Amino acid sequence: MPFDVEKARADFPILSREINNKPLVYLDSGASAQKPEAVIEAMSHAMRHSYANVHRGLYRMANEVTDAYEAGRETVASFIGGETNEIVFTKSATEAVNLVANSWGDRLQAGDEILTTEMEHHANIVPWYMLAKRRGAVLRYVPMLDDGSLDMVAFDAMLSPKVKIVAVTHMSNVLGTINPVTEIATKAHAVGAKVVIDGAQGVVHLKVDVKAIDADFYVFSAHKLYGPTGLGVLYAKSELLHDMPPWQGGGEMIGRVTKEEITWNEPPHRFEAGTPAILEVIGLKAAIDWLNQFDRAEVEAHEHALYQRAYDRLTQINSLRVHGTAPGKGSILTFSLGQAHAHDVAQILDRYNVAVRAGTHCAEPLMTRLGVTSTVRASIALYNTQAEIDTLAEAVEKAQSFFA
Ligand code: PLP
Repeated sequence: MPFDVEKARADFPILSREINNKPLVYLDSGASAQKPEAVIEAMSHAMRHSYANVHRGLYRMANEVTDAYEAGRETVASFIGGETNEIVFTKSATEAVNLVANSWGDRLQAGDEILTTEMEHHANIVPWYMLAKRRGAVLRYVPMLDDGSLDMVAFDAMLSPKVKIVAVTHMSNVLGTINPVTEIATKAHAVGAKVVIDGAQGVVHLKVDVKAIDADFYVFSAHKLYGPTGLGVLYAKSELLHDMPPWQGGGEMIGRVTKEEITWNEPPHRFEAGTPAILEVIGLKAAIDWLNQFDRAEVEAHEHALYQRAYDRLTQINSLRVHGTAPGKGSILTFSLGQAHAHDVAQILDRYNVAVRAGTHCAEPLMTRLGVTSTVRASIALYNTQAEIDTLAEAVEKAQSFFA
């Protein structure tokens, strides 16, 4: 049975919002996705009926909340094919990358190399830049081809035993490119490097199996996966986590504290200093349980059909240039409209209630590679419809005539 978009949409209260008596067309899910009722209800239910701090309580409600929090860890683990003790909760995907860079990364020596790519979000560049500066390591960027695919020939040539970390996005937040992460992991492992995969977009659109990829580290944010803000996930292989020092100190992450000496808790708790994002974990669990009702392949087919419709319509516009046409790419459509500034285009689209993102998308090296200062991005989620894509196309046509 094909994916029933109207049924899925009905779960999102915000999608029935109208502005100036016209429906909202939300095409900015790549920045943050809307939340289904199941998530809103799970978080609200916890606050209304069963709330306390986790891990420390000796009373019923504290134990209930601890169980709910740890159940969230189990759900996340099985969603991406990892083990429960391999899931660390952070505040965002960004913080998860910083955790790896500051903990595992601290073993880097002067002259070691870190490979990232030209198409990364700043979250998968800046922590590595800071680590390289701190340790005297060298940060290198794997280039991409003109269609937005990663240049795998260049990648092969850049690999050497000096490379200790390969940090690559699963799916580009600008181009929609889906990188061959399994092949990248195999090749990186062959030279002794660890692989950090930025799954902030990938986990939303692809069925992820961290063991099949053989990822050492895989990070993502709850808020792009129909869950709440303020929560990120770090998956790391158990043996790596055991071998990593903590990077933030405080309650929960310790074994014993005396005035003279402190020992560390076991992972994953070693990496969760202080009170964690309890309600957000409950919300993420609800989001994943909600998402699990769908056949992910059908969702992917639905999103792809919408992308293709948008691509076919928008490329009819002469002055419009699409950035990123790699084979098998995901449902993100980024474009420039003649010489018009992306912010101006986005503001015109807003008059038609079409919400898109405009700017550098936290990917300045990529903007430089594309030879632009900013672009417009429409990012498609499972709740988007053909009618919304048509509204987008009509609004872009209007914008085009405005700038002509
Ligand atoms: N990586 C990619 C590919 C992203 O798209 C984003 C967010 O836009 C991030 C990392 C950072 O996510 P967060 O801001 O939730 O930490």
